[in-house]
Amino acid sequence: MIVVKNINSKIKEQPAIGMVANVMEQFNSAADHIDLHPNIRKILSITNNEIMVNFPVKMDNGNVEIFTGYRVQHNNALGPYKGGLRYHPTVDIDAARALAMWMTWKTSLAGLPYGGAKGGIKLDPSKYSKGELERITRRFTFALGDNIGPEYDIPAPDVNTNSQTMAWMADTYMSTRPPAERAAHQHVVTGKPAGSGGLEGRDRATGYGVYLSIKFWSEKNKTSLEGKTFIVQGFGNVGYWTAHFLEKEGAKLVAVQDAYGSIQNQEGIAVEDLLEYSQLNGGSIVNFPHAKPVDKNEFFSIACDICIPAALGNQITKDNASMIQASLIAEGANGPTNVEGEKILLKKGITIIPDILCNSGGVIGSYFEWLQNRNGELWHLDEVMVKLYKKLKDSFDKVYEYSENEAIDMRTAAYCIAIERIEQAYVQRGIFP
Ligand code: GLU
Repeated sequence: MIVVKNINSKIKEQPAIGMVANVMEQFNSAADHIDLHPNIRKILSITNNEIMVNFPVKMDNGNVEIFTGYRVQHNNALGPYKGGLRYHPTVDIDAARALAMWMTWKTSLAGLPYGGAKGGIKLDPSKYSKGELERITRRFTFALGDNIGPEYDIPAPDVNTNSQTMAWMADTYMSTRPPAERAAHQHVVTGKPAGSGGLEGRDRATGYGVYLSIKFWSEKNKTSLEGKTFIVQGFGNVGYWTAHFLEKEGAKLVAVQDAYGSIQNQEGIAVEDLLEYSQLNGGSIVNFPHAKPVDKNEFFSIACDICIPAALGNQITKDNASMIQASLIAEGANGPTNVEGEKILLKKGITIIPDILCNSGGVIGSYFEWLQNRNGELWHLDEVMVKLYKKLKDSFDKVYEYSENEAIDMRTAAYCIAIERIEQAYVQRGIFP
């Protein structure tokens, strides 16, 4: 198994309040387009529940440190809350709010029976030992208590969390249930290791979806990926797997940026060699021998056909959008392009495959894992990949056609489809009492 260390923790993210304003502006422009009922607009503009927990953890040196964890549950009209947990210094209630809203749109667009949630712990995981991270994760899970649950709110990996984090969470949650109920609670989290109820292929699901979105777009535009150049920001799980699949299709990786630096080589960077190098180099791509360093502020100006931001939010803004040379942006991260940046890109005729479509392979894979656990099944990798392909193709075609028919950008189209599905659920069920 290839273990990809997440190394995006130091890429600078703008203040989280920008993220809420951003997601609300995206939501409101789609809501205007479909003339969303004002009552539904009111409901979707707020988050249902916001949980903040402070909890103590014993460090390796014997001292106790207090951590703050968050879980924001935005909306559950379509099913249990669903979304990742990230470990990062920028995690706070506002970041969790914005990211939870994005999950609601993402699960709705993908046609999953889920709502949206997000959370995490405000910390820099590189500062803690594996044992400390395990104790932090277990104590956080315990502190969340019944605010999560397999039929209520199902966390998953996100930035700087992975299958190991989920294994600790599942084990802690199950250990707190009565013995006869433990096994039936395994699907409290998704993204677990394959040997502990995880789904074969969940590790590559997000990157596979990013790659497929690019492939589907190329097919619609009657061009092939053979010989196309691409740049990737973030060489964690999403960035690596996207590059892996694109390279297999004949596209050429020409630049990468991670938390530690940026590199480029117009002749091409071999993806597997870079992964091996970064794993031997503490998770960093810096000084990769077959590429030259680039100034971090010039990264987005590098000549390429496709640009893939796969790190954190608010990376493409009014300050750098005009320097982008790609004709396609595929959003592997959540919220990498802010509204001002997007306006500049659209004016330049650049297409953006929006995050809620582009990176939805991850949560679709999570849904498969959840079903697998619930039904006591074990799916094979090839079966998973076929099912992922079908779902992603269906979503992509819907968004593409909607955007063509309505003459709107793909993000607004994706939001319209997602919001209409939730609106329909409210119209059918009414508002209690
Ligand atoms: N963290 C991933 C996302 O942002 C996956 C969420 C999930 O699988 O629940 O989509």
